[in-house]
Amino acid sequence: MRYVKLLFIVFIFSSILISCSDSKTTNIIENKNISTPIQSNKNLSKLTTNTANITKPTSIKKINGFVNVLDIDNTLVIDLKYATKDNFTGIVLYNFNTCILREETALKIKKANDDLKKMGYRLKIYDGYRPVSVQKIMWEKASDKRYIANPYKKGSNHSRGCAVDVTIVDKNGKELEMPSKFDEFSIRASRKNTNMTSTERKNLDLLTKVMTKHGFTYINSEWWHFDDVNKDKYIIEKVDPKKFQSK
Ligand SMILES: [Zn+2]
Repeated sequence: MRYVKLLFIVFIFSSILISCSDSKTTNIIENKNISTPIQSNKNLSKLTTNTANITKPTSIKKINGFVNVLDIDNTLVIDLKYATKDNFTGIVLYNFNTCILREETALKIKKANDDLKKMGYRLKIYDGYRPVSVQKIMWEKASDKRYIANPYKKGSNHSRGCAVDVTIVDKNGKELEMPSKFDEFSIRASRKNTNMTSTERKNLDLLTKVMTKHGFTYINSEWWHFDDVNKDKYIIEKVDPKKFQSK
């Protein structure tokens, strides 16, 4: 009988041991299950990174805070008059055809152009950044110094990259009627000219409206000239527009 009791005790003890061993196995399986969501999170993080790469804007060339305006908005019309003889000096003053501006100013120009495009028009740029070397030639050539900023004093906001000379063109690229030709240094170019036609006044008012709406101020003597409202932030810079030429 004692032998039977002993056998029974050994049986019970073995059962407890087996039970503990099963319990450990279950725990391991549970841990494996826990690890699955962690792997999913890793995949999610990879996806997030990939999406960020896709939506990243293409980088544009910047030198000293300057950009090629066509890199900001390639629907703008560029017609640099100082790269031609069609300006008040009658000679070619620029050895480049690329219009560069401060990035902030270029972004404002894009917004003004966006507004005009909704009306079937586009902005045409006659001048943007102007090297000081050219400003000095203009100063020498100008018969009426009231129209040219003295490069030996404060200089021109064009040389700071935050001024533009602009007009509006229609969907065929034809310039809208304005009070005078570009670079006509006379009373006809003035906003105070009382002799302009109603069409010229209407077109000038439209140009003024879109430019001032997007952060530009105007001057009275030249209808085509606008300064970035933040012009005082910028100093006169020496930048080579040829370095921005599209390849
Ligand atoms: Zn100007």
